[in-house]
Amino acid sequence: MNWRIVPYNLRMMARHALKRSALFHRCMAELAAFRELAPEARRARQCALLEDVLASAARTRHYAPLLQALQRFDNPIERLKALPYLEKEVVRVAPDAFVAPARFSITAHTSGTTGTPLRLRRDLYCVAREEAGFFQWHQAAGWTAVDEMAVLRGDIVVDIARQRPPFGLRDVFFNRRVLSSYHLSERTLPWYLATLRAAPTRFLAAYPSSAWLLAEYVQRTQAAPLGMGAVFLASETVTPAACALINAQLGPVQAQYGNAERVCWMTTCAAGCYHEDTQYGFTEYLPLGDDRYEIVATGFVNHVMPLLRYRTGDIAVAPFGWETRCACGQPGPGCAQILGRADDFIVTPDGRRIGRLDHVFKEAQHVIAAQILQTTPTQIELRVIRAPQYATRDEAALRAELLTRLGATVAVTFCYVDELPRTAQGKFRAVVSACAHAQHGGT
Ligand SMILES: [Zn+2]
Repeated sequence: MNWRIVPYNLRMMARHALKRSALFHRCMAELAAFRELAPEARRARQCALLEDVLASAARTRHYAPLLQALQRFDNPIERLKALPYLEKEVVRVAPDAFVAPARFSITAHTSGTTGTPLRLRRDLYCVAREEAGFFQWHQAAGWTAVDEMAVLRGDIVVDIARQRPPFGLRDVFFNRRVLSSYHLSERTLPWYLATLRAAPTRFLAAYPSSAWLLAEYVQRTQAAPLGMGAVFLASETVTPAACALINAQLGPVQAQYGNAERVCWMTTCAAGCYHEDTQYGFTEYLPLGDDRYEIVATGFVNHVMPLLRYRTGDIAVAPFGWETRCACGQPGPGCAQILGRADDFIVTPDGRRIGRLDHVFKEAQHVIAAQILQTTPTQIELRVIRAPQYATRDEAALRAELLTRLGATVAVTFCYVDELPRTAQGKFRAVVSACAHAQHGGT
């Protein structure tokens, strides 16, 4: 018996009430109506939505003086483009300056692709809009609400010390089979695959690193491909090689790009390219050379904390505009590929391979940036750039968060630094392992 079933489902009951509110149904209707519009009408609608978010931004401490000075621009795109780019550090230092007064909101945290934790606020519309976006994305790939969704996305659903199946539980409110991303090993992978093969699970929502581990195992053991209806990947980079492997062994890949700051939403098409949701935000591509661009985006969905021209730190390859038709037949805007996270797996002494670990930093308010480094099979070093308020209790909290996911078989040490290393391409890696052999392919 997994004692977590009851508290987990109680949490999901509350989350269901929040996410599937009347606002959710309004968002679903708006999304459906937007999809029916001709490209020109979508552009006009995007301008109107941008105008609305600029009006909300003008009520915040950060943007009020900036936008006051730009009233001569009638066109909202021109007004937007007269603003400076917004750096993540500016938001980290003074998040309240971006919050519109007198609006109900909930707090959220992220560490994102740069290892820098942020404290964010979202309104109820934003929460419902995100849920509607995922719901609609899943529907477009053939999923319906009566189909159970298998999930491998870093949820803590069983104790880390658990040795025997099940390594997951059922979420009755969202009709999901939620599996642990922290128990994947050679010994347990057969159980995961058997669970996924069992009816009625035909759809999987996973971190690319977790899906890659399953797909690689199926290929290596020459087991029959899973033949799922769709595999929904989000939150990490999906390399072309990983996409091909998961496509062949698990089922057709659908990838989504988004961020906790809620500024940009893109999903892949039949041709494997990313298409922007232009009802969600306005995206710009800042040239970096070599046909690579930083994604700089303005979200329309969160009026309590509007972020304009926000530098995401994520890199898009070969973007294309409205006037270009993608190989799938649909017009842009979008891009050929997104290079976001490229983390290593941590391999624990008992053989579990753990992909994404940035949850560890989500609540860490006094951390400017951090990186997890595995130096030996039993040694984890946390490299942390501290904010002035950082105290002993922050270290204890980080250690506890890490051990909850890795188990007590590893030792954690802390290293306080002024700078974190980047790859030769200038990319930041949140998790680096000096002893992992098989990696799911960064860039
Ligand atoms: Zn396309």
